[in-house]
Amino acid sequence: MHDLVIVGGGPAGASCARRAALHGLDVVLLEKSVHPRDKLCGGGLAPHVKDLVDFDISEVIEHDIYAVRLISPSGRRLYLKRETQAGYTVKRHKFDHHLLKKAEEAGARVEQDTEVVAIEQLKSGIRVLTKGDSYRAPLLVAADGVNGVVARSLGIRKRWPSDQVGLCIAADVPVDPGEIERIMSVSEEENRMPIEIHFGQVKWGYAWCFPKRDELSVGVGCRMDRMSNLKESWRDFVSMLERTRGIQINLDSTRSFRVPLGGCEKRVIGRRTMLIGDAAGLVSPFSGEGIYYAIESGQIAADVAKDMTTARNPVLVRNYQNIIKKSMCRNLDAAMFISNILYKSSSNTELVCKIAQEDPVMGELMLDIIANTKPMPELKIALIKRLVTRHPLKALRLGV
Ligand SMILES: Cc1cc2nc3c(=O)[nH]c(=O)nc-3n(C[C@H](O)[C@H](O)[C@H](O)COP(=O)(O)OP(=O)(O)OC[C@H]3O[C@@H](n4cnc5c(N)ncnc54)[C@H](O)[C@@H]3O)c2cc1C
Repeated sequence: MHDLVIVGGGPAGASCARRAALHGLDVVLLEKSVHPRDKLCGGGLAPHVKDLVDFDISEVIEHDIYAVRLISPSGRRLYLKRETQAGYTVKRHKFDHHLLKKAEEAGARVEQDTEVVAIEQLKSGIRVLTKGDSYRAPLLVAADGVNGVVARSLGIRKRWPSDQVGLCIAADVPVDPGEIERIMSVSEEENRMPIEIHFGQVKWGYAWCFPKRDELSVGVGCRMDRMSNLKESWRDFVSMLERTRGIQINLDSTRSFRVPLGGCEKRVIGRRTMLIGDAAGLVSPFSGEGIYYAIESGQIAADVAKDMTTARNPVLVRNYQNIIKKSMCRNLDAAMFISNILYKSSSNTELVCKIAQEDPVMGELMLDIIANTKPMPELKIALIKRLVTRHPLKALRLGV
């Protein structure tokens, strides 16, 4: 019998396992794959992920990012740059492996190649069944991602409604390290390597090109209820990059994967169970950024698990729901508000890009929103204020 069983060893599960082990809990984490494992992802991180973890992650950082290039639906180009860091990129197999090793170092037991197939509710706890084994604990954390088995087994969520989940097609494209700089820089003035976001390639979403040391993450993603022929958008995006950047894109690693985009989930707990990261739907509906929220929700769950273990009171699981509502949901709700303006129509996206290009304060705000460098509710208010006071007619057209 352990104090806590965690299902899934991505950023959410690994962060929860580390924090819980540091609290002195007997933790076992079950992961179906073997790390370093691949995870389809742009690998763009907000600058404050570094501050969230209690260890150094510099060895797994690919590029420090100080600039973002936005391409509007009509092809308008905005280059938003700043002196302080706007983020960085990582390769997920390295980053996630690093986090998992840190969980083990803290004393968590990590069982890889161990797929959870079912969950049983017992009178005094939970039994987690894997292929050929079982694990018991008074408490369970579901960190098994967007396609997770735990939420379904416990009846917390049957499936994602199509307006709460996105689909992405992406590839990690190998590139000669000496070529990355050339591919990502399109003019001399735009002299710091950016991440690139193309609006208008798809509805309610975007296409991206993020630089790593020796590869590019290239992808398209959109909310599923607004999707129309994502494969075609993907092919168009790839050929546009090939044409305009003079590269041959190797698509061997092309895959598709889902990402929650519904904003704050109503229910992130079950009996003796906490859902964290993608399993809980904690992803920005504006950008698809989920790593930050995965790590933070994992740490919050570990703190609640410690209180529950000390008090031997499973009802305290409600505290997790309350903390998530008060902290993270405010951020995700504000991100949803911004998405509703930006993605409502192609003309809205175009108009927002135009305003951001003409008004440097709006450009700064856009950069903050994309890079998630300030609390989203603060950015939402600043955005509304700026639009209403400086661009009142355009604000009306946008529906603000
Ligand atoms: C194409 C794409 C691009 C993205 N780009 C970005 C980005 O640039 N920046 C960003 O912040 N976010 C991005 N995201 C979102 C980000 O990938 C997720 O939010 C993040 O991975 C969530 O972490 P997690 O630990 O909750 O889940 P995951 O990383 O999905 O980890 C879940 C883990 O659980 C394991 N697992 C699943 N089922 C079981 C089972 N039954 N038994 C045992 N183990 C199991 C899996 O093997 C996996 O290791 C992107 C997502 C997609 C799809």
